[in-house]
Amino acid sequence: MTDVSAESLSLHPPVISGITKLYGCIAHPSAHVRAPSIFNPIFRKNGTDAVMVPINCPPEHLETVVRGLNGLKNFGGLAVTIPHKLALAELCDELGDGARATGAVNAVRFDDDGKIYGNNFDGEGFVAGLIGEGYQLQGKRVLLLGAGGAARAVAVAVAYHGCAHIDIANRTLQKAAATAELTGKFTSKSSVGTTTLETADLGAYDIVINATSVGLHDDDPHPVPIDSLAFDCLVCDIIMVPDRTNWLIAAEDSGRPVHKGRHMLDYQLELIGRFIGAFD
Ligand code: NAP
Repeated sequence: MTDVSAESLSLHPPVISGITKLYGCIAHPSAHVRAPSIFNPIFRKNGTDAVMVPINCPPEHLETVVRGLNGLKNFGGLAVTIPHKLALAELCDELGDGARATGAVNAVRFDDDGKIYGNNFDGEGFVAGLIGEGYQLQGKRVLLLGAGGAARAVAVAVAYHGCAHIDIANRTLQKAAATAELTGKFTSKSSVGTTTLETADLGAYDIVINATSVGLHDDDPHPVPIDSLAFDCLVCDIIMVPDRTNWLIAAEDSGRPVHKGRHMLDYQLELIGRFIGAFD
């Protein structure tokens, strides 16, 4: 019997024909990239004549490499990761909302018209993850912690998808204000504000999202005290490693619902695949 488990598919080399469509995952270094080991088994399972390869591109060669790939007739597009997300946005001819909000791309598509289209699915991936895991945003009051690149993407997507209100709190206050101003431009449905952890009514939120890097390390403090949150508040982290931050573990132990960081990436791979034309 043929073994078609995802694991066995990922171990077999693809069959390359003369019309195999090529995709890349561009990074530097590239040893850690996950996209090829996710996309290739899907190509195999779907019977798609395509392959995704890692592209280890030093930053100083980025433009040459990207223009070269765009010149190939059988190259569809790229998943984009560190350190190329900002620089590659500059090389795109057109950007989607997620990329315009963040100034960064994590997917680019090379179309037959010769143009390079870029977008960033971090925020959409977060929202798709929430919905996919059975939660909703409509009518909810959201507290977002952080105002870095990932936080901006999440704020814009959460507001765009119609939460009732979002407050942004960040260590550097000016960045919270800038993120709130940006977020307001992408929504007519949600009200947007800023707050601080000292002044916020933490018990008044339905959803709290940690989009800071606090929690990456075992000895990091909790971004906000779990006990000050409403008993049914959905506690979300976007940190992927560890799989459950100490803050999420504390929330879970307290009986509150939790949403892990890996959902944001898992759900956006589908969105990236569709954008670059890999899952047509
Ligand atoms: P970033 O642009 O460097 O932003 C870091 C954020 O964390 C800023 O708001 C910063 O506040 C805050 N911060 C850092 N140290 C802090 C501290 N000690 N106390 C309070 N706030 C602190 O980073 P990023 O790209 O947005 O990434 C943020 C996190 O999201 C990272 O852990 C990353 O791994 C994760 N992430 C996850 C996904 C996913 O798919 N799940 C995708 C992208 C990123 P200041 O503005 O005051 O410096």
